[in-house]
Amino acid sequence: MISYIGKISGAIVDFIYPPVCSTCERKLGRAEAYVCSNCWEDFERVAPTETITQLIEAKFLSDETIDKIDSVFLFEQDNRVREAVHLLKYGGAEAIAERFGFYISKKIVNDDMLSLCDVVSPVPLHPARRRERGYNQSELIARSVGRILRVAHEPGLLVRVRQTQTQTSFDAEGRKKNVKGAFGLGKVSANEVNGKKILLIDDVITTGATIKECARTLKSNGASEVYAVSAAIAI
Ligand SMILES: [Zn+2]
Repeated sequence: MISYIGKISGAIVDFIYPPVCSTCERKLGRAEAYVCSNCWEDFERVAPTETITQLIEAKFLSDETIDKIDSVFLFEQDNRVREAVHLLKYGGAEAIAERFGFYISKKIVNDDMLSLCDVVSPVPLHPARRRERGYNQSELIARSVGRILRVAHEPGLLVRVRQTQTQTSFDAEGRKKNVKGAFGLGKVSANEVNGKKILLIDDVITTGATIKECARTLKSNGASEVYAVSAAIAI
């Protein structure tokens, strides 16, 4: 009865205040949530040009912790991608994560990373932060990618063993120190990591310090290759 009333009042609210796109404020269609399809298609992409590929490789692959990297959208100051990432963390998690998962899947479907990897796994949140938020946004994206591309999704390969301060207050060197030793293997058997090729999923990669530390932890536990893919990246 309560959910029935909830549905009716939801429908009345939708009628009076039809849901609009969070970034362009156009009225949303039935199949859309939070962000309209036009905006998704318009979001700034990581163009597969030589310059951008070189920039990304120099910044994120130079120390050989990560073997391959890719990302879909450009994370920039005040751009709409940033708004969508904000929504993912503080608003419409499921719908936004599904879309990010869809675009990641579309981008890597023909890549070696997909044909080679054994398992998809997210960058973990510390359990306290996960409880506070109610979910790990990167796990929702990884789950969506695993389902769309039919790759095993194991959310518990890594755990955060130490709570870190938000990376935003540090410079690149500080970020590296801040996450050093922050991860450990989760409750998985050693052979789930040893000799495996693991595709790590994150919502946003900025300096790469966090995902590199995750990759380093997996490799020190025997992972043979680690690939990193994110919904958005700051170049
Ligand atoms: Zn829109």
